[in-house]
Amino acid sequence: MAVKEYSLKRDGEKSLAPHFKVREFRCQDGSDRILINEQLPTLLEALREKLGSDSIVITSGYRTEQHNAAVGGAKGSQHLKGNAADIRCKKGGAIIPAKEVCCALEDMGHAGGIGYISETAVHVDVRGYKSWFDEAKGKNGIESFYTYFGLKKPEPPAEESSGKISVGSIVTVKQGATSYEGKKIASFVYGREYRVDELSGNRAVLDKAGLCTAFRTEDLTLAGEAPEPEGKTYTVKKGDSFWKIAAEQLGNGTRYKELAAFNGMDVTDTIYAGQVLKLPE
Ligand SMILES: [Zn+2]
Repeated sequence: MAVKEYSLKRDGEKSLAPHFKVREFRCQDGSDRILINEQLPTLLEALREKLGSDSIVITSGYRTEQHNAAVGGAKGSQHLKGNAADIRCKKGGAIIPAKEVCCALEDMGHAGGIGYISETAVHVDVRGYKSWFDEAKGKNGIESFYTYFGLKKPEPPAEESSGKISVGSIVTVKQGATSYEGKKIASFVYGREYRVDELSGNRAVLDKAGLCTAFRTEDLTLAGEAPEPEGKTYTVKKGDSFWKIAAEQLGNGTRYKELAAFNGMDVTDTIYAGQVLKLPE
């Protein structure tokens, strides 16, 4: 939460996040005093990961009153408070379109300022409440950048039949399915639960001791609940991101990478409402 004060001369080379140093947030008028909200470098680092960007250039970070006035900044601008950065994001030498950056911040559930400045530049701030806008067109109160830009939001993947079938799984046979070899099945089979005793490719032999029939795995449905993951878990809500969950559940947004890795995921992976994540200690 805290805004910290730095000296360009003394702290310029200090790292605030793996890819961001104090000097990158300095006022463009060369002033020594720099204010930086500690959430800002963490957010930029998370954005860098999310975009797969290899360089985020801050074209305007902290601004003194004089400099803000000189560049025609808004009165009470978040730049004056050390909360904001205007950025250009690059990947493989090319600039990532600003629309894409705005949408990435939306995907991350960033509940702060996001401003489309131009085709290549984005304003981002950590004011603490949602304020999404298009500076180029002077439009405030944008609800979703996807809708605003007429872009399609990526769909969550189609739901799979809850997990994978393996030897030992308890399954039911889908109504009307035939055996692996295409033979008709006695109707009582459909209502019952069987254990998978053998599995090779999509061929699953059920209940060797009794039924002893092979089926295609796509004709089987896992019965019963998947075992509860051990330890603490968190169910993803709409608007969550690794960064947000790490901040709220682990007490520190900078643990977002650890959280993703703990769940066998990458920070660029999209998470969906209802998904259960394991929380590291
Ligand atoms: Zn700005």
